[in-house]
Amino acid sequence: MSGVEERAVDFPENKAEYRVAVLGAGTMGNGIAHVFAQFGFPVCLMDISEDRLEGALATISRNLDRQIRKGIVSAEEKEEILRRIALTTSLEEAVRDVRLVVEAVPESVSLKEEVFRKVDKYAPGEAILATNTSSISITRLASVTGRPEKVVGMHFMNPVPVMRLVEIIRGYATSDETAQTVYKLALALGKTPVEVRDYPGFVSNRILMPMINEAIYTLWQGVAGVEEIDTVMRLGMNHPMGPLGLADFIGLDVCLAILEVLYEGFRQERYAPCPLLVNMVRAGKLGVKSGEGFYVYDDRGKPVGVSPVFAK
Ligand code: NAD
Repeated sequence: MSGVEERAVDFPENKAEYRVAVLGAGTMGNGIAHVFAQFGFPVCLMDISEDRLEGALATISRNLDRQIRKGIVSAEEKEEILRRIALTTSLEEAVRDVRLVVEAVPESVSLKEEVFRKVDKYAPGEAILATNTSSISITRLASVTGRPEKVVGMHFMNPVPVMRLVEIIRGYATSDETAQTVYKLALALGKTPVEVRDYPGFVSNRILMPMINEAIYTLWQGVAGVEEIDTVMRLGMNHPMGPLGLADFIGLDVCLAILEVLYEGFRQERYAPCPLLVNMVRAGKLGVKSGEGFYVYDDRGKPVGVSPVFAK
């Protein structure tokens, strides 16, 4: 398998019978449910919070409206897509009768292990258990189940309906069949899958997070301001977003959790999270989702200026 871009494939033959459960209806879960439903799969979206489920459906509806404006889906297709999405707060109900589970709960080893134990208990024996983790070991999550050969990483990028990459991560025991199935499923969603091995941060976050962390150190050490750092990387390196704006978008808590996995996994100082990032997470400044990080955001998540903490 290569990292070359490939065209969407029709897999599996009868998508309407290929039921998918998505666990966690946050930033990533709503996007993952959106794309599976958009490409014909019946989806059960599960969260412990009813508010999150309702919020996720509203987000999916808004994102579908944007796709209608861009001519990607029609108004009739929007209704069909929404009809394919069921909501529940019961994990047992969500994973019953599914072929694939995609877990997208917060980036915590203990929480994900607990969720994987439950999913293993209630999902059909032949179901594939995929995780959208940004950095946690697939091998570790697989080890709490009785089916490590069916556990795999399926790492979507944010925002899921727009971003084309899916990083497919093989754990130590992941079977060829499992890896190939999720590879084909990613193609069926119009994405470009790239297969990588199970080491901390995989490829995407092993490279991205040290860059974001370095940008935060650069700010912390007073080398330049928030907008200056982001402008250097946008205009100088042609990045679509600056690293600090991107960190806000990903969620500063998510960035910190990933850096901690890299730091623990490699035991190297260069992955140590910047103390400023740690403080911001402790203060509840998580970026777009909390309304403030390096920038301040309005109710619709649009940046309205640099945070007063960093304003000159
Ligand atoms: P989030 O905080 O936006 O959403 C997590 C959701 O999980 C919340 O709605 C929460 O209520 C729910 N939840 C908590 N415990 C649960 C449980 N036991 N069962 C079901 N739902 C539960 O987080 P996110 O940003 O969507 O991240 C989810 C996963 O995706 C993480 O592993 C993260 O590392 C990964 N990821 C995030 C991004 C990103 O840009 N945010 C990108 C790629 C991968």
